Amino acid sequence: MAKELLRLAIQKSGRLFEDSISLLSECGIKLNLSRGGTRLKTEATNFPIEVVFLRDDDIPGYVEDGVVDIGIVGENVVAETEAKLQCLEQLGFSQCRLSLAVPRGSPVTEISQLENARIATSYPTILKNFLAAHRITADVHTISGSVEIAPSIGLADAIFDVISTGSTLMSNGLKELEPVFFSEAVLVASDDLARRPADDPLAVILAKLRFRIQSVLRAGSRKYIVLNAPNDALDAILNLLPGLKSPTVVPLATSGWSAVHAVLEENEFWEKTQSLRDAGAQGIVVVPIEKMIM
Ligand code: ATP
Ligand code: ZN
Repeated sequence: MAKELLRLAIQKSGRLFEDSISLLSECGIKLNLSRGGTRLKTEATNFPIEVVFLRDDDIPGYVEDGVVDIGIVGENVVAETEAKLQCLEQLGFSQCRLSLAVPRGSPVTEISQLENARIATSYPTILKNFLAAHRITADVHTISGSVEIAPSIGLADAIFDVISTGSTLMSNGLKELEPVFFSEAVLVASDDLARRPADDPLAVILAKLRFRIQSVLRAGSRKYIVLNAPNDALDAILNLLPGLKSPTVVPLATSGWSAVHAVLEENEFWEKTQSLRDAGAQGIVVVPIEKMIM
């Protein structure tokens, strides 16, 4: 019987490439990535997966058709292609938004004023759906790249494009009108694969991969901290620490003192460490967490 391999499509080169490769590496999946040349696909050396390199725009269609089993791609591209897919994991990288923008000097300040405007975009489907939902009739011009220069060359009155920091908008003399769609990289699978029974060979490999991805993502959003506390401040300090089950408390050699170990969420990290110090914690050590298995 042929060896079962899960085929995963990732972007060949571009904004998703590095983070997709890093995620696989953090999942312990080893790939032979020859530099340069015509890289089409590669089989992992230590996990039953084959990585196929594609243009990001082609990934949803290939997954939908079953040419590959799963893919890593931006939600914006999934929405634009309207492929029938299951989104299995939000991956947290390549965050951006699709927004409407107009030249800085334009009198337009709200979307209702875009009635009959010419809007240039590479995302006509998402834009048309948005305009229809807001009952705005506009002239949508589909162009494949350099959308941000369309107003300055007289091609459009407004644009609808991907923004991450907004610096491209600024340097092209544009102002953001309204964010329409928020996106990040996602792991997608065909409906067919997502519906297979748990003991299906590909479903088994996919479950292993998702388990690893979840462990990596969970760890990435958390920090391990160790601190020293006088015993009379322990109650106040433990109240600040939720912990997985509960924080670990170990007595120190110096009597009247304990060490506390706990896990903090990245987004509450600075607030919490400040409060811990105020409550009497000393010598707070922060350690990155590599994996977190639940
Ligand atoms: P391909 O050659 O694969 O078609 P591309 O030029 O369409 O590549 P990239 O510019 O590499 O695509 O962007 C890939 C994805 O990265 C986008 O679809 C989007 O989800 C995300 N992204 C994040 N920030 C930005 C940004 N500032 N501009 C464009 N895309 C961004
Ligand atoms: Zn693309």
